[in-house]
Amino acid sequence: MIPPAFEYLRPKTVPEAIALLKQHGDEAKILSGGQSLIPMMKLRLARPGYLIDINRIAGLSYIKEDGEYLKIGGLTREAELEASPLVRLKYPLLLDTTSVIADPQVRNLATVGGNLAHGDPANDHPATMIALGAQVVATGSKGERVIPIESFFVSLFATALNPDEILTEIRVPIPPARSGGAYFKLERKVGDFATAAVAVQLTLDDKGAVQKVGVGLTNVGATPIKARSAEDFLRGKKLDDKSMAQAAQLAAQDAQPSSDLRGPAEYKRGLIQELTKRALSRALERASR
Ligand SMILES: Cc1cc2nc3c(=O)[nH]c(=O)nc-3n(C[C@H](O)[C@H](O)[C@H](O)COP(=O)(O)OP(=O)(O)OC[C@H]3O[C@@H](n4cnc5c(N)ncnc54)[C@H](O)[C@@H]3O)c2cc1C
Repeated sequence: MIPPAFEYLRPKTVPEAIALLKQHGDEAKILSGGQSLIPMMKLRLARPGYLIDINRIAGLSYIKEDGEYLKIGGLTREAELEASPLVRLKYPLLLDTTSVIADPQVRNLATVGGNLAHGDPANDHPATMIALGAQVVATGSKGERVIPIESFFVSLFATALNPDEILTEIRVPIPPARSGGAYFKLERKVGDFATAAVAVQLTLDDKGAVQKVGVGLTNVGATPIKARSAEDFLRGKKLDDKSMAQAAQLAAQDAQPSSDLRGPAEYKRGLIQELTKRALSRALERASR
């Protein structure tokens, strides 16, 4: 299917892109990898009059540790994240996540910034970034601001980005020693969006109890969900079969699934319970290495 007609604009710098966003307002959309936006345009679910292609802007694609953070440029492709030796070595949760997004063809183009900015609760990075306690850097006409990930997802397909802002960077706190994470996703077939998925990131103290923990849920609500009651329960606890089962039950209660083609709500709640147990167990194993 062919998308409706649009004006194609190709700025060379971030300030130029912001000026175009300001000039065209609601009529304009940023084009990154195009892996969500172009299909939506073909289906007539989005009809932007102006596409502002940021792919030629230099300096928006990188993965590096700097100060207390792993910094990921907004235009970094999934394939780059997947191939990064740093991610492979120190960020298993990110690696788990990127490698189950769509298929290699999509991952060659899709960007991490686009995955978050799209505001789709079915996308995989949002829950992972929630578990990691990430921050999003938004750059607009008033300069740069840092948005904590838990206030970034506002409602279905809506984020805290202002209309003239571009997501330019994602900041993930560098995990201390005795940290581990894992992402478990159930999909109907390879390459599909999640029926449900769970991201866990945890840090153990020197006695082996949970010091810090983040739990994010995919596709079981209008926004990605931070499973706060599971997190609150886990803090200070040693992880064993009983505590993991209790946390998993709480995560299932934190979920707000609805019934659809991927299954009834109660089935998805059950899935969250099981996937939380598995993610906690894998994260514990990785944190204990
Ligand atoms: C066949 C297929 C299967 C898929 N399966 C999965 C899956 O399993 N898991 C998953 O998570 N995703 C999946 N996706 C979706 C896709 O991977 C993501 O939504 C994609 O990564 C979005 O990034 P993009 O760079 O392609 O964004 P685009 O499509 O270019 O943009 C998406 C939206 O975000 C806005 N935007 C993009 N970048 C920025 C920015 N830097 N600043 C501000 N706004 C911005 C755009 O204006 C647009 O509204 C799939 C897509 C396809 C085509």
